Amino acid sequence: MPIEIIRCLKDNYAYLVHDDATGETTLIDAPEAAPILQRLADKGWTLTRVFITHHHWDHVDGLAAILEAAPAEVWGAATDAHRLPPLDHRFQPDDILPGGAQVLDAPGHTLGHVAFYYPAEKALFSADSLMTHGCGRLFEGTADQMFETIARMAALPGDTRLFSGHDYARANLAFAARFADPQAHAARMADLPGLADRGEPTTGTTLESERLLNPYMRCHLPEVAAAAGLPGGDARTVLAEIRRQKDNA
Ligand SMILES: [Zn+2]
Repeated sequence: MPIEIIRCLKDNYAYLVHDDATGETTLIDAPEAAPILQRLADKGWTLTRVFITHHHWDHVDGLAAILEAAPAEVWGAATDAHRLPPLDHRFQPDDILPGGAQVLDAPGHTLGHVAFYYPAEKALFSADSLMTHGCGRLFEGTADQMFETIARMAALPGDTRLFSGHDYARANLAFAARFADPQAHAARMADLPGLADRGEPTTGTTLESERLLNPYMRCHLPEVAAAAGLPGGDARTVLAEIRRQKDNA
């Protein structure tokens, strides 16, 4: 199933997942109508449904204008229905959705945050939970919740591609320098700025590579605990500390 990555607003990503067999197209998050409608037109795809990861304005604000031009079913978390745009369908964690997406509970950034995992495509749409070389800010949830969220994702196959909600890769990679595998970090430093400068997507890395680069997937490693200033610290405490340092960076 082809996946289209669409740059929206200042640094958001939205995604189209198209099923060649059924002709159905799923939009994941709706930051901004124009670029999404444009991509649908360019591809000649008809929108079938929209999945929402969480209630923040920069993930839903484009929805009304998209639906006006491309009527589609809207799906969101039952627990967050009161603060999401009007939903046609409510889902629960672990539900399997049309098109084969599995709902992963992913609290931490917000309490009702979910991710969508397509096992057949080995694609994980994680929005503002686990992100390219980083993770989302803890606006509502706790570091413990983010730890559990990331642990759930870390259990997926290593060749799963991670599609996050923002292009924060460059800033995240700079911050990750102290915590990442040095060789992997140097290699990514050599290609990421070029990608970013050319306007190419920085999202879509594999979980395998995130395991080497992403501080929040490395909290169990003694050298990462030491780099965080918590030698011998347990993984949850280390995650909380690294997130705190990033907030203050
Ligand atoms: Zn958000």
